[in-house]
Amino acid sequence: MDALARLRSKLEDMHGLDAVTLLLVWDQRTMMPAGAAATRGRHTGLLQRLGHEMLISPEVGKLIEESERLDLDPDSDDGALVRLARRAFDKAVTVPASLVEEISQAAAEGNQAWVEAKEASDFARFLPALERNVELRLRYVECFEPRAEPYDILLDDYEPEMETAEVRRIFEEIKPELVALAAERREGVDDSFLTGDFPLDRQEALSRELVDLFGTRPATWRVDPTPHPFAAGAGRDDVRITTHYFPDNLDSLFATIHEYGHGLYEHQVPEALAHLPTGTGASLGLHESQSRLWENLVGRSEPFWRFFYPRLQARFPEALGGVERERFVAAINKVEPSLIRIHADEVTYGLHVMLRFELEQDIVNGRVELRDLPEAWNAKIWDYLGVEVPNDAQGVLQDMHWSGGMIGYFSTYLLGTVMSVQIWEAAMRDIGDLDESIEQGEFAPLREWLGEHVHAYGRKFSPQETLRRATGSTIDAKPYLAYLRRKYGAPVAA
Ligand code: ZN
Repeated sequence: MDALARLRSKLEDMHGLDAVTLLLVWDQRTMMPAGAAATRGRHTGLLQRLGHEMLISPEVGKLIEESERLDLDPDSDDGALVRLARRAFDKAVTVPASLVEEISQAAAEGNQAWVEAKEASDFARFLPALERNVELRLRYVECFEPRAEPYDILLDDYEPEMETAEVRRIFEEIKPELVALAAERREGVDDSFLTGDFPLDRQEALSRELVDLFGTRPATWRVDPTPHPFAAGAGRDDVRITTHYFPDNLDSLFATIHEYGHGLYEHQVPEALAHLPTGTGASLGLHESQSRLWENLVGRSEPFWRFFYPRLQARFPEALGGVERERFVAAINKVEPSLIRIHADEVTYGLHVMLRFELEQDIVNGRVELRDLPEAWNAKIWDYLGVEVPNDAQGVLQDMHWSGGMIGYFSTYLLGTVMSVQIWEAAMRDIGDLDESIEQGEFAPLREWLGEHVHAYGRKFSPQETLRRATGSTIDAKPYLAYLRRKYGAPVAA
């Protein structure tokens, strides 16, 4: 076997370990008896260690070097694979194994501390674990060659090759518009009928109906309940999405549509990349562009509900039988400044992300003392959204990311949202009658377009190069801002 074939086979094995780990994580968050957490931690830890050891072995380093000498076409599957392997290898060998171990230990403990602190709504209880996680992240940063700013190194783990200055520039362009739109839209839209009696069994049937309607290959998906929805799975033919059913509202519907977008990305990577590290989404941001596209551009759109609302009413005649479609669509698009990011509307969502991005840079650059974080948080929420934070649980403690040392992650949510509109508009240009097909309940044109123009690249290229190939442009906030203005800028009838 030549070097490239051997490298490929090693990378397939590593990818296989990752896939099995994801299944264990899926199981942990949906099916596993709670008492098995410690045992599960050992097993996932073992798989991760095996994968890490495989990657940093001198043999793999040599195989990468030899493969690089082949001068492969950089656009080819193999050329991209070698490039990706180089990137992963260089990062992995730069960080000492002992630090990797400390980081994963601190993340596990931090998560536990966060759960308890959030329950008690007491930031002080979380502070020591946060300090430990931040300190380890800073040591992690120090392992690498300095970049323009230290935050670049953290961001690169979630959004490869994106620079902090670029994210800052995009966010600064968006912020004043969002603040203005959020302030403009303070008139009351009635959404009282979205709270009511929505029997769980019918919600479950609805989730399955949606996934079948949007489309999948037969016998390749599962939809299961979980407290915090996510998409996972073991590859293109084993997609697992999860959703959270509440008996008194329809939030599960949008969670399912969101996770469908994530699942479809993995489902439509080409067979040729299926068992390789290139056979997955290009980045968290691009992944989020897919989930937000389905959730917002499809799932909160007029054309979709023209088709689907009678079906929804038929499932919930008691709650929605007397509510006209126009009122329903207005209600699911209601803009209202609120405390919790994951429940925020399309307009205010971005502000929740921005304040986290700004605070993270303050943390990394030592501009804020961690013990002062709740105050800094509350001040920003007041500035951007005009709401007062009543307690830490609904403020600085609401997200789990920092408890696991995940600093640099949040911005991908908004980057993805921005890119979702660029991708949507490119699909509109190519498909022509996209709205009409959605109004007819035809989702194959959109699904296939995404497959061909986004999913087909897997992780072969950087996220921005993937976006450029799909839309002709790298990230650009203008289409997103124009979309928000069109949708939310005009006064709406109550
Ligand atoms: Zn998502």
